[in-house]
Amino acid sequence: MSGDTPEFSVRFWGVRGSIATADAATLRYGGNTSSLEVRCGARRVLLDAGTGIRYAGLAMLAEGKPIDADLLLTHTHLDHIVGLPFFAPFFVPGHRFRLHAGHLLPDYTIRQAITELMRAPFFPVPPEAFRADIAFCDFRAGETLDISPEIVIRTVALNHPNGATGYRIEFAGKSICYLTDTEHVIGRPDESILRLIAGTDIMIYDATYTDAEFPNHLHWGHSTWQEGARLANAAGVGTYVVFHHDPGHDDAMLDDIAAELRQTRPGSLLAREGLILRP
Ligand SMILES: [Zn+2]
Ligand SMILES: [Zn+2]
Repeated sequence: MSGDTPEFSVRFWGVRGSIATADAATLRYGGNTSSLEVRCGARRVLLDAGTGIRYAGLAMLAEGKPIDADLLLTHTHLDHIVGLPFFAPFFVPGHRFRLHAGHLLPDYTIRQAITELMRAPFFPVPPEAFRADIAFCDFRAGETLDISPEIVIRTVALNHPNGATGYRIEFAGKSICYLTDTEHVIGRPDESILRLIAGTDIMIYDATYTDAEFPNHLHWGHSTWQEGARLANAAGVGTYVVFHHDPGHDDAMLDDIAAELRQTRPGSLLAREGLILRP
């Protein structure tokens, strides 16, 4: 909090895409997979549940207060949910969560997906072991989520195998957009993304690849840092944040990308673990 302005911030607990890395060459930007924590005044919105959410959970418990939070999943590929069974607050009675997903209906529900994840022969502890109050909330990407009178969450369907949802969180006259995982079409900016991110203060975008790498990864469901810059320029985005770093991109390569990015679009930056941004 500063003065009368309510806190609005995003903290990066995991910035890696596809699979966690645990080697010294990726330590500086961080090896944990997608997990973000957005604070909107007293309300807390978690984005994705990759390996980074384990640390978010420990920090939340350390505050020693009852937790009441929404957890929005982009989708249920492993790198975005594998931290859920290790999210300690789920095992403590008294905490309340609402787990949202917008890419599963009508074939699946989020409760089904989590139950599939946490069962033999993949995992020893079923979701029945959770002790917190957890509501499973399915919606369809494109709908606006009503989680609080003060927070507007707009969503969009992304171009990703098995589907994914992009989010725009609006609070106190500012906004943060979170768009991962999504693949672009060369030369054709994604119109639905442009509409969602128009004029946003912060855009966090799937930049798994470089434009040079992209042609070798068509239909893998990801984009490039250069495409993110093009979208950010076209939509009048404030701060552009490169996210979902490829596990093969070590710190040295990410430093090179950061240097190029600063030239291409000054004020942009690469996500790294521990980073906190305020719109
Ligand atoms: Zn991913
Ligand atoms: Zn994915």
